[in-house]
Amino acid sequence: MTELHIQTNDAPPPLEPLIYELGAPGRVGVNLPEPDVPTADLPDAALLRDEVDLPEVSEQDVVRHFVRLSQLNHAVDTGFYPLGSCTMKYNPKINEDMARLPGFALVHPLQDPETVQGALALMYGLQQWLAEISGMSAVSLQPAAGAHGEFSGILMIRAYHIANGEPHRTKIIIPDSAHGTNPATTSMAGLQAVEIPSDANGDVDLDELRKVCDENVAGMMITVPNTLGVFEAHIKEIVEIVHEAGGLMYMDGANMNAMLGVIKPAELGFDVMHYNLHKTFSTPHGGGGPGSGPVAANDKLRPFLPGPIVDVVEQGDEDTPPLYGFVHPPQSIGPLKAFWGNFGIMVRAYAYIAAQGADGLREVTRHAVLNANYIRVALKGTYPMPFDRFCGHEFVCEGHWKDAPGIHALDISKRLMDYGIHPPTNYFPLIVPEALLIEPTETESKESCDNFIEAMLKIAEEAHENPELLHEAPHVTPVGRVDEVRAAKQLNLCCRPVSHE
Ligand SMILES: *Cc1c(COP(=O)(O)O)cnc(C)c1O
Repeated sequence: MTELHIQTNDAPPPLEPLIYELGAPGRVGVNLPEPDVPTADLPDAALLRDEVDLPEVSEQDVVRHFVRLSQLNHAVDTGFYPLGSCTMKYNPKINEDMARLPGFALVHPLQDPETVQGALALMYGLQQWLAEISGMSAVSLQPAAGAHGEFSGILMIRAYHIANGEPHRTKIIIPDSAHGTNPATTSMAGLQAVEIPSDANGDVDLDELRKVCDENVAGMMITVPNTLGVFEAHIKEIVEIVHEAGGLMYMDGANMNAMLGVIKPAELGFDVMHYNLHKTFSTPHGGGGPGSGPVAANDKLRPFLPGPIVDVVEQGDEDTPPLYGFVHPPQSIGPLKAFWGNFGIMVRAYAYIAAQGADGLREVTRHAVLNANYIRVALKGTYPMPFDRFCGHEFVCEGHWKDAPGIHALDISKRLMDYGIHPPTNYFPLIVPEALLIEPTETESKESCDNFIEAMLKIAEEAHENPELLHEAPHVTPVGRVDEVRAAKQLNLCCRPVSHE
């Protein structure tokens, strides 16, 4: 095993100064050229603000400030990031290069489609690839994130039932292990979420499922492998039960990293699903940056896809390439996003899939599953685990012990930061006490998995021998533990010159 570098003796880096404390009156960071266009008068003074107190800084002040801030953050480019359900894989830099090609980066959404055929060909190709990966028949790239894809899918299910004269179908069945976006999506779409329990193995309780399947069921929303990290043992039966009741099956595709090239959701019987391009298909995410959550449908739901989608509007021949254009599916639920979706993310996903190829994608999944199981087995005797079974690309353990009272999952997570590791997902899924959801991803080497295992085993020892070390962690970050209630209730995201009261 590689040696651990415990940094607990280092002083945490300071958070200060804020950008407003940098610079000096009159200092400037840019030299603007003389204007080569006619100058215009400023608007009426009453329309202008004079109290905007902007920092006056040099270019170097700005560069140092933001580079320093970036170094205070943990990122997948700086270390292991096993944040379960989020698929924080390393994002190859070639994807960034592709997204910055002027032909992609500088196109305008209102340009005549004939002038941006390359961009449209890329979108069309991505739609085709995503359809092939899932076995679905068509894809819309409109939604801006996974939750947005869920929203599209549920609206499509709703539209389908209304078109079939069954508007009374308003129940969406959701397992209690689900991601919070699933019930939230359902109620945003005006439908009712009906929660059903999981059984002792982490699978959907089939008897409970049968009980809620009646003539009012619109469909079921389920994650595969589920958010407990396990592949539903009875997925085919679940699909059958819901279909028999006249409902449709929605797959939350956030965990596609455990399925690429191995299973196709359409073949399991799903009718509609979303992908998180920013998770599975490699775009830097977290911190609220742009995402993309394409939605895919089988023949039944395809007419309801959000539009526009890209299609061939004029067939080509040997000498002329096909002409691509935007079309609206016949019974489309309509557009869900300004213009055409988050195009830059599509370029990254396209580059990623192109670089991997079909075999590469299958390897991604095989390694993601291998890494997760390797770590799971190594931690098994030390950390309580609710389900002792083969996992997908992530697994859940419990961060507490009977003989170490006072230690919680949160303490373990905070202590991991002292070891230079990002914490796993805490307290999700909600049904596992003191849950730690661990997802190493395929991009981590055996050495970094070993390093994580060693840190986790060390922390388990510390929890029993020196619990204070965990309670006081993290020791090496500029901010230790925040008041989470205040952070949620009095969130301040605005950088202003404030008096420090
Ligand atoms: C991440 C995630 C979502 C939501 O996706 P976003 O892209 O963050 O909106 C939904 N379900 C599961 C299981 C997830 O992990």
